[in-house]
Amino acid sequence: MLSNEAFQVRYTIALMQNPGKSVLISEQEIQRRVAEMGVRISEDYKGQSLSVVGVLKGSFIFIADLIRNIDPAIPVEIDFMTVSSYGSGTRSSGELRIERDVEGSLEGKNVLLVEDIVDSGLTLSAVKDLLLSRNPQSLRIVALIEKETNRRHPVPLDYVGFRIPDVFVVGYGLDLAQHYRNLKEIRILDAG
Ligand code: 5GP
Repeated sequence: MLSNEAFQVRYTIALMQNPGKSVLISEQEIQRRVAEMGVRISEDYKGQSLSVVGVLKGSFIFIADLIRNIDPAIPVEIDFMTVSSYGSGTRSSGELRIERDVEGSLEGKNVLLVEDIVDSGLTLSAVKDLLLSRNPQSLRIVALIEKETNRRHPVPLDYVGFRIPDVFVVGYGLDLAQHYRNLKEIRILDAG
């Protein structure tokens, strides 16, 4: 995995070359890393079944790629939640709304919670508590991106795709005001 320092350097260069919307993580890097994560998860859940719970909307592309990298011998169920902590800007409102809950029971299941990006940890800690109250057999957390920020709500992550500096990113499912989700790569959105 690229170090935080490596991303800082890349971020600085990218902004100099193309201020506005510059590539932080390429399509190839995402695909390679997601494949690695799929292998790890497949090893960890060998001989068990898995209930994947995705936090919409940002994680939908990541989930689609991740589950196709999980060994088909592992039975995989999918469910989704929709939560929102951000308005249409780039800073958290500090409030979390559960807009859509999972449909199925999680009782006695091996739940793998999939989050797109962890910033303050507010979203994840609230969703984690909610899912734990449903009595799963186990609960692990996977995040595509972890921001190297001062985590106000510390939640240990079991699988992390990329650790990045505190910049606002879009693409590969991640939006700004519902735009840019369809980018194949992850780009830094510069406020300017
Ligand atoms: P947290 O609750 O950890 O502060 O924020 C997590 C949620 O905020 C993510 O699920 C995502 O919806 C949104 N978020 C945080 N950072 C970013 C970012 O850099 N880009 C985008 N598009 N969304 C972000």
